Amino acid sequence: VTPEYSSLGRSASHNAEIAVRAAGQAITLPLLIARGSRGGPVLVLSAGVHGDEYEGIQTIFDLFCQIDPGRLRGDLIALALANPPAFQAGTRSSPLDGCNLARVFPGDAGGSPTEAIAHAIDTELLARADFYLDLHSGGVACEMPVLVGYHQADLKARDAAGVLGMPVVWCHPTVAPGRTVSSAIGRGVPSLYFEAPGGGRVNAAGLTVYRRGVLNLMRHLGMLDEPLEAAPAPLRLHGDGNIDSSLSATGDGFLTPRVDLLQRVSTGALLGTLHDPWGREIDRFIAPCSGVVVMIHSFRLVRSGEPLFLITEVRP
Ligand SMILES: [Zn+2]
Repeated sequence: VTPEYSSLGRSASHNAEIAVRAAGQAITLPLLIARGSRGGPVLVLSAGVHGDEYEGIQTIFDLFCQIDPGRLRGDLIALALANPPAFQAGTRSSPLDGCNLARVFPGDAGGSPTEAIAHAIDTELLARADFYLDLHSGGVACEMPVLVGYHQADLKARDAAGVLGMPVVWCHPTVAPGRTVSSAIGRGVPSLYFEAPGGGRVNAAGLTVYRRGVLNLMRHLGMLDEPLEAAPAPLRLHGDGNIDSSLSATGDGFLTPRVDLLQRVSTGALLGTLHDPWGREIDRFIAPCSGVVVMIHSFRLVRSGEPLFLITEVRP
């Protein structure tokens, strides 16, 4: 981190950066750091791990306009643009190596640009964290409800997830390797992630909930001396959050979804149909299990192999 982390004064906000070099590319990871007037937990936030997801970036920018380090306990470290090459290209994965940053953690300093970015985030940021929150959203292709997700075995994350005021709380019995949060879990750092509708836009209602969620997390961790902002009880979901294992496209075509987000479906329900250039139905997508629809590929053009629908269980 430049300037050196220990040289950053308390009761102040700072701009810093991490320089990443890989395969002849120089990449700058921009950091916003608020150091509180008193010691306390280090909360690390990231956004833009996928380059077409904007709610988290906006949340971090807004948060740093609002935050008063003089009233803060501990340190808030935020990386709003975690994947600058993908952000510049407006794409989920990096144009430099085709890699998905959320599949290569903990990364490799001597690897491809995306692997080198993962290594820098893991060793410079996650290694410093007492708590970690990764802000995602559906991106251009997919739509997801506003939610917070956590790993079942991560009890501190579970306790936090329930008090943030997020409308949906999703517990995952397993977290696949390669994610930012899998790296954090491996380091014993409690970690959460957010999702929102996405679509290549910033959903206004989602943004309000993200801001409240981050501030409530800081209140829950004792970084802000103020009461939690109350919200209605969340819908609780349980299941695998891996969109790589969702129902996927069998060919190229025009997708017509036949369900809405958070709709409850039974095994065998029609989720959507795929059409050729004449509008003829060429495939039907059927619910493989009962549950609630938690992801829909809302970008109508689909390519073979892309994730289309994900269903998970509701838990009382
Ligand atoms: Zn994402």
